[in-house]
Amino acid sequence: MAPTVERKNIDLAPLKAAKVPIFFIVGGPGSGKGTQCDKIVAKYGLTHLSSGDLLRDEVKSGSPRGSQLTAIMESGALVPLEVVLDLVKEAMLKAIEKGSKGFLIDGYPREVAQGQQFESEIQEAKLVLFFDVAEDTLVKRLLHRAQTSGRADDNIDTIKKRLHTFVTSTAPVVDYYESKGKLVRINAEGSVDDIFGVVVANLDKVTSKI
Ligand code: ADP
Ligand code: MG
Repeated sequence: MAPTVERKNIDLAPLKAAKVPIFFIVGGPGSGKGTQCDKIVAKYGLTHLSSGDLLRDEVKSGSPRGSQLTAIMESGALVPLEVVLDLVKEAMLKAIEKGSKGFLIDGYPREVAQGQQFESEIQEAKLVLFFDVAEDTLVKRLLHRAQTSGRADDNIDTIKKRLHTFVTSTAPVVDYYESKGKLVRINAEGSVDDIFGVVVANLDKVTSKI
């Protein structure tokens, strides 16, 4: 039988009461999400949460849930959507306790259903920032990152699979939020600073109250 992960009963009241803005950060692997989020955090003091980092941290922590996650990943199955969402919720609550002014949710939603579940259980996203980069640029950047990242998924075969997943699952996320009028499509082929200039112009329009 496939290993299961227990779900926790998480009280979201403090998070909902805080009514801080939430931004989804979307883009192919290597599109510069992490790079731009670091700069957004430095300028606006928002909290950056990467779902991949949360999963890796939970596994490293040695918690019972972490070892259940390891069992799932070793069995080749996908980590259930609810488990990722629980990790995100817990990290958001911790940050709210410390006075967070808002969130950058990086690497989530991967699929339209994830976005809908997040928004129905937590809160609607204010905007979705989409870093738009051509596939050959993504490959070049990831192969360059591979020289120093130590990430097992930064190799040409895995990169191709991740690009395929992005195109088939995540691109519909872009269309979905575009149809809701929440998508900010940013041409992210330029320099880090030029791209950040466009990010700032868009965030300044909606974060005047921060
Ligand atoms: P993501 O988090 O979307 O996977 P990263 O922020 O890790 O992307 O960026 C992937 C790689 O591309 C890193 O090596 C980073 O330094 C580089 N990079 C990010 N933005 C740019 C850019 N505008 N121009 C050139 N290289 C970039
Ligand atoms: Mg990243």
